[in-house]
Amino acid sequence: MSSIAQSAVANLKEAGLEDVLYIPGQQAYDTREGSYWSLTPRLGPWAIVQPRNTEEVSKAVKALVKTDGCKFAVRSGGHMSWNGAGNNIEEGVTIDLGLMAKTTYNPETKLASLQPGGRWTNVYADVEKHGVMVAGGREGLVGVGGLLTGGGLTYFTCRDGWGCDQVVNYEVVLADGSIVEANDTKNPDLFRVLKGGHNNFGIVTRFDMRTFEAKNIWDGNIVHSKAVTNEVIEAYVDFQTNLENNPDSHVLAMWVYVPQAPEHFINMVLTNLDGVENAKSFQKFLAVPGQQNIKSKTIASKVAEFLVPSGRYDSWLTLTFKLDGRIIQKAAAAFKNLMEELRKSIPDSNFSISMVLQPLLASWTQHSASKGGNMLGLERIPGNCVILITALEVETSELSTKVGTPALKAMFSEIESYATSLEKNVDFLYLNYCGDSQDPLPTYGEENLRKMREASAKYDPTGVFQQRVPGGFKISKVK
Ligand SMILES: Cc1cc2nc3c(=O)[nH]c(=O)nc-3n(C[C@H](O)[C@H](O)[C@H](O)COP(=O)(O)OP(=O)(O)OC[C@H]3O[C@@H](n4cnc5c(N)ncnc54)[C@H](O)[C@@H]3O)c2cc1C
Repeated sequence: MSSIAQSAVANLKEAGLEDVLYIPGQQAYDTREGSYWSLTPRLGPWAIVQPRNTEEVSKAVKALVKTDGCKFAVRSGGHMSWNGAGNNIEEGVTIDLGLMAKTTYNPETKLASLQPGGRWTNVYADVEKHGVMVAGGREGLVGVGGLLTGGGLTYFTCRDGWGCDQVVNYEVVLADGSIVEANDTKNPDLFRVLKGGHNNFGIVTRFDMRTFEAKNIWDGNIVHSKAVTNEVIEAYVDFQTNLENNPDSHVLAMWVYVPQAPEHFINMVLTNLDGVENAKSFQKFLAVPGQQNIKSKTIASKVAEFLVPSGRYDSWLTLTFKLDGRIIQKAAAAFKNLMEELRKSIPDSNFSISMVLQPLLASWTQHSASKGGNMLGLERIPGNCVILITALEVETSELSTKVGTPALKAMFSEIESYATSLEKNVDFLYLNYCGDSQDPLPTYGEENLRKMREASAKYDPTGVFQQRVPGGFKISKVK
């Protein structure tokens, strides 16, 4: 262990955190390191500290900041899957919020209070007991902290805005270890920048969120063969064109290749948030031949079943373009080409890829604005857009960096060039979907960058969350 590592461990012990401090060789260390969704961010830090409450987060921050030269990472669910995302660190200590995972509900204020280390499957089960729901992640094991500090696309985004728009108060541990609240009246500048501003300002230890009535949803999927790609794209474009009038309908359009399947297929995940069966908005999807499995359920039961396995090395990339069937056709063709190319170059075709399309509507900014605004800067982007994300998973780090990632980048550059040639490429990257070669912050607009820089200078004057927490997308690095 280096002398900095030894000092960090000594300072964390002196701060009373010995019981929740794990070093390599200990079972608890291996368990936490093994619990990252992807292999990519399993970086083997010097030590992992798991605070049990906000005061212990504060003690951990103070102990690490006073250790000269010690860098650290902040982890909630551990789902962000690139090396350097800020949820783990090779040469430093990881503050792991996994023991701070409770959700409580206050019937008087109608607010749910979520600790950052919670997983959405547990959050939904906890709030549903009270007959209410919150707008959060769509996969069961994604963490609360990363999703909400990065934005948060939810089942309810079309109706209510982004996940971060639903937060009315944050409890935050700042760089000097102080514990503050940030809301519309207390530290309102910090409140605004936390809505999408990522890990740039402090460690959020509690999110107080608006709730709404929990309802049964009508939800499930249709698996289509690639033979009906054109019909699916046509149905998707039609659906998204009319989505503004159908905010209770939610769709994820997923192109999927897994090694067990002889061909790729399209998985359309359809959800009606009011439980309406065979809603009119879904008619075109339902008319395309495919294997349907759709029924009435609750959000908690849906998300408990929706668990995407990984345990492999990941490469992710995202882009945004104006809704146009030609670009989706191009993306579908690029996906097929990528798959075929990788089948030739990866032994036993042992990889998975998924390409997911989802809507981004100009009208969503009204939901954000009515709740005080966020940092994503979408006011600048008119019209009906599509967010595309592709995730590629392979068995080794070498395959990921040398084969998978370059091939994925080539695919994205082809789609982006095509969208640009139609003047339909959109200057927005959704932070939570970005890969390590992307930088979303410059796409959030000058005004938001200014607010983030000012908040960083005010709440973190010594730049702890810029230099000592080097991972993630840093406001200080934006030119
Ligand atoms: C299978 C899967 C499904 C997904 N589904 C969705 C989805 O439906 N909608 C969506 O919007 N995104 C989705 N994502 C992306 C997801 O939002 C991001 O990966 C998110 O960062 C995960 O949150 P986490 O708590 O697990 O983050 P972590 O990996 O723990 O952390 C991610 C980043 O957030 C920072 N961070 C974490 N906690 C805090 C905190 N308390 N205070 C300050 N900074 C913090 C970390 O330092 C790091 O930079 C999905 C990802 C996966 C792998």
